[in-house]
Amino acid sequence: MSTAADRLKRHFRLVPDFPKPGIVFYDIAPLLVDPDVWQTTLESLAPLVRAYDGSVLAGIEARGFLLAAGLAHLLHCGVIMVRKKNKLPGNVTRHTYDLEYGSDCIEVQNDMVAAGTKVVVVDDVLATGGTLKASVKLLTSIGLEVRGAVALLELTSLRGRSNVTCPLSTLIQVAE
Ligand code: AMP
Repeated sequence: MSTAADRLKRHFRLVPDFPKPGIVFYDIAPLLVDPDVWQTTLESLAPLVRAYDGSVLAGIEARGFLLAAGLAHLLHCGVIMVRKKNKLPGNVTRHTYDLEYGSDCIEVQNDMVAAGTKVVVVDDVLATGGTLKASVKLLTSIGLEVRGAVALLELTSLRGRSNVTCPLSTLIQVAE
């Protein structure tokens, strides 16, 4: 019998050469649009998130927001947003990190939750792990206790897991 993860895997739409040549993009839009599939997605991820015992979920822009919001509803957690530069108002802490070519920057509002709050980071796809690593660093820098990270899909051939500095769970693994 196939597991929920096996069944969900079939709903990703693979888009070759997006957003640039050589990348196969794993699009979660077909999972979102079907209410049964989306519900299964959230219910399958919920135990992974619950195991880290956080009170707040940090969603990574942008698809991480959708997952974090749905999971927070199921688990009665709060949500905070890890966003790209200059999107968040108010008191913001920024973290700049290196990419293969150039750098990127993420931000979080630093006065939304108290220092010491237990946080679980949520995203859709773990590729190189750079975004997750940077998010953990950013959230830790504002005093939060990052209990773990959860991604819906892990592209195992990119070995992003080795970059992630907190406990990590992924529901679906694919070797590209
Ligand atoms: P990375 O920092 O390389 O682990 O990239 C993770 C972020 O980029 C996540 O927020 C994903 O949404 C997005 N991402 C990276 N690679 C892919 C891919 N092949 N398909 C879909 N999303 C991706």
